[in-house]
Amino acid sequence: MVTHIVVGAGIAGLMAAREAAIRNEQVIVVEATPQPGGLVHSVTLAGITVDAGAEAFSITDDAVLALCAELNLDDVEFAAESGSCIVSGPDRYDIPKGVFGIPTSIGELRAVAVLSDAEIEHARQLDSAPLTHISETISVANLVRARLGEPILEKFVRPIVAGVHGGAVEDIEVRALVPRLLPELRRTGSLCSAAHNVRGLSAAPGAAVATIRGGLTRLIDALVGDLSCRGVKVLTSIAVDAVTKSNGYWRVEADGVTLGYADRVTLAVPAYRAAVIVAGFPALARALDTINYSDATVGIAVVHAPQLDTFPLKSGALVVGDPLVKATTHVTAKWPWRSGELPHPVHILRFSFDGAASRSEAAQQLIERGVHCMYGLDSHAILDSHIVRWPRSLVAPVASHSARINQIRDIAEKAGIFLVGSYMNGNGVTGIVRSALNERTSV
Ligand SMILES: Cc1cc2nc3c(=O)[nH]c(=O)nc-3n(C[C@H](O)[C@H](O)[C@H](O)COP(=O)(O)OP(=O)(O)OC[C@H]3O[C@@H](n4cnc5c(N)ncnc54)[C@H](O)[C@@H]3O)c2cc1C
Repeated sequence: MVTHIVVGAGIAGLMAAREAAIRNEQVIVVEATPQPGGLVHSVTLAGITVDAGAEAFSITDDAVLALCAELNLDDVEFAAESGSCIVSGPDRYDIPKGVFGIPTSIGELRAVAVLSDAEIEHARQLDSAPLTHISETISVANLVRARLGEPILEKFVRPIVAGVHGGAVEDIEVRALVPRLLPELRRTGSLCSAAHNVRGLSAAPGAAVATIRGGLTRLIDALVGDLSCRGVKVLTSIAVDAVTKSNGYWRVEADGVTLGYADRVTLAVPAYRAAVIVAGFPALARALDTINYSDATVGIAVVHAPQLDTFPLKSGALVVGDPLVKATTHVTAKWPWRSGELPHPVHILRFSFDGAASRSEAAQQLIERGVHCMYGLDSHAILDSHIVRWPRSLVAPVASHSARINQIRDIAEKAGIFLVGSYMNGNGVTGIVRSALNERTSV
């Protein structure tokens, strides 16, 4: 029987372990922290469990829905159809139904009523112009500018991409952000139609995302339970510090002691951790070290606020121009089942703060700033709150990211090491799950 050690029990490691177990390999997962899940993590506030890392998965691809079905998780919840908005100084406007601000039709632009007729007409002309050569490495900014015009880029796409990925649209390649967009554009000739087809599953105007009732950590619990049924052990509180090759086997070491030997090894840890673990393979370690990460800070507040019953920011907002607050989710508006867990008029608010700028800010100050600036509430409304700081957690999308990943993949393949995680498979739960499921098909 093939033996396999997976390092890291985030969603990527758990998925890799599950696929290996399905192939009848004998698998052990080793996790540095006391519990599996990594960035899929929850906290308990006012007696309820709330996601404090990833909180939803994209349904522009049905990978996670398929996984949930396999795991018998039948209480998937789709985000409310109310949509979300952009807050830019005193201005507040709706986001058109689409993909990262790229509308699914020109009609969607009219519906949000923030562009002039001339700007919308210009977008229509660009979108219906014959398609000339589009480079495989085109940036999001250049594509949107060329096919829909500057106003759509500036009003919608730039703030949304910055809010979600923390990166500049000039630097992010379209194929890294939404892999299916360019093929759909080439097929249909229209960027709006491409966005429409990519959204596919979700016809709703809200975000094309879903979660699991009770929180995304239930997906982790279900995966760990499934692994246990398949005979996979998940060892926690053990930080792997080296993986080396010895007599044809992989030797995995923790705290300078040999933890075990295996035929295969998968590193499901951030690139900068993998670089340390594979220090014995200098070319791979160097390539892994080129991947940059940025910090993230998530704040959650449970508030008593009848004035939020009307959902003033709909499901939430992306924020332009604030040095600290990048985005907010009105959790009880986005996920209606959450309201049922709380007495009226208690609401849950989630904030995404700029990781670097918020580093030296006290937790309470951050929360108070979020509830005040975004919802006009004072500190008396806060019943409970929590801040989670995630250092070096978001892969910073840079120009040539795809080329770097291809290089890493080549070197790792030659060394015989499997690498998975958000830097390899795309920032986000869906990309990671999709890659693991594709692996099954290809094997
Ligand atoms: C604040 C925030 C919000 C997000 N929200 C969303 C969202 O709503 N939807 C979405 O799809 N994506 C979201 N993402 C992205 C998503 O969370 C990640 O892409 C995904 O969870 C990464 O999974 P992973 O398994 O690759 O890495 P991780 O979750 O980082 O897991 C890596 C694991 O490896 C362990 N580890 C590290 N070093 C070692 C070692 N030496 N030995 C053993 N174990 C080790 C870590 O402890 C960790 O458990 C968010 C990210 C952040 C930071």
